[in-house]
Amino acid sequence: MTSDREEPRGGGKLADDQEGAIVKTVEGMRSGAGGALPSADTLDRDDPLRAQRDQFSIPQGLLYFAGHSLGAPRLSVSDRLAEVEREWRRHLVRAWGDCGWIDLPRQVGAKLASLIGAAPDEVVCADSTSVNLYKTVFAALPLAKGRRVILTERDNFPTDLYILEGLARQARTELRVVESDQIQTAIDGDVAVVALSHVNYKSAAIHDMAGITAAAHKAGALTVWDLSHAAGCVEVKLDEAEADFAVGCGYKYLNGGPGAPGYLFAAQRHQAVVTSPLQGWLGHAAPFAFEEDFRPQEGIERFLCGSPPIISMAALDASLDLHRSVGVAALQAKTRKLTDYFIAQMDEAAAGMGFELVSPRDSRIRGGHVAYRHPEGYPIMAALIERGVVGDFRAPDNIRFGCSPLYLRFRDVADAVARLVDVMETGAWKDPKYQTRAKVT
Ligand SMILES: *Cc1c(COP(=O)(O)O)cnc(C)c1O
Repeated sequence: MTSDREEPRGGGKLADDQEGAIVKTVEGMRSGAGGALPSADTLDRDDPLRAQRDQFSIPQGLLYFAGHSLGAPRLSVSDRLAEVEREWRRHLVRAWGDCGWIDLPRQVGAKLASLIGAAPDEVVCADSTSVNLYKTVFAALPLAKGRRVILTERDNFPTDLYILEGLARQARTELRVVESDQIQTAIDGDVAVVALSHVNYKSAAIHDMAGITAAAHKAGALTVWDLSHAAGCVEVKLDEAEADFAVGCGYKYLNGGPGAPGYLFAAQRHQAVVTSPLQGWLGHAAPFAFEEDFRPQEGIERFLCGSPPIISMAALDASLDLHRSVGVAALQAKTRKLTDYFIAQMDEAAAGMGFELVSPRDSRIRGGHVAYRHPEGYPIMAALIERGVVGDFRAPDNIRFGCSPLYLRFRDVADAVARLVDVMETGAWKDPKYQTRAKVT
């Protein structure tokens, strides 16, 4: 049975006034009780984002459902990369100033800001998400004076848990790891920082950023949000939530390319008093004065450390113009429809095949991918990938289908589910070649 584990996570609940009124949005897609699903072609025809797919390069016939892991490249990225190469060739070291390379972290930060509900001077593009998490949590700790606990959830992305574990040891603080439905109650007078992912990497469940942030503030703690699985498919509102810090990833729904730099947000009100634990020269007020002692930059750029990776940052920059022109509300609306359609197709075609829906059924508390548990998840996904449907697998038994709003069609969803059903009906996944785990899954 395709069943539904409607476990609202910790803060993942809807606001009080919405509770009890959870609409079964998947059912809402049907034309009346038990009615037929709308055809994929009809949904594609009515899709306001349908033209955006032409901006991307996706191999013919491939159904790409791993944009939550590595987004597809926008075509114009290659022009931008060629331009950077020309600048490098012609201007050499002078390009840092003459071609504005030195300002890129801030410029890309400003573009990112518009996608996550922040002001342009509150975000900077730099480093990886892992490193940025380290920097922001470390910086936030002294703001909660006298407190010594960092709070997170067991279900958090492993790198977040590892970074926090190491940081807690180095900063002589305690890491408190609780279940997702225990977060609000675990915020007590000892908690300095609450560090969570906005969208869960396995289930895609969305935490109530505003509610948890308010609870943290009420108790005298600060919040650091990881937006990796949210930015580009969910309308993030750091400003409305009064979030303190945030970090995120450039290569998932933002299509920045493999290993694209991440980003970091610090609310304006904190910027003058925080210090990064990694005091690199580009975070210095006058990097080219080559002073002996560290003096931080005035604003968000104090979180810079070493030289920005201009080539990969330029690729991200070129991609973000598209997200900005489409707008986060439209990205979120399409994501919800695609994921709803995926679930509805599975309900209809894959019932009785052992798939258990892990993601919330309500699209308002669900991010950009749909996850199912299946005891044979690994070989099933391996067989599916060989049949041109690229999703991914997360141990122990989750298969995930990322529904990137800019380049996926409803037709792709219908075809992907049909191929999955075929893999199950023919027993194709039982082939021994699908049993061996690859290095990257
Ligand atoms: C993808 C992801 C990361 C990635 O971290 P990197 O340092 O870029 O490898 C971190 N946290 C979360 C929640 C993620 O989803």
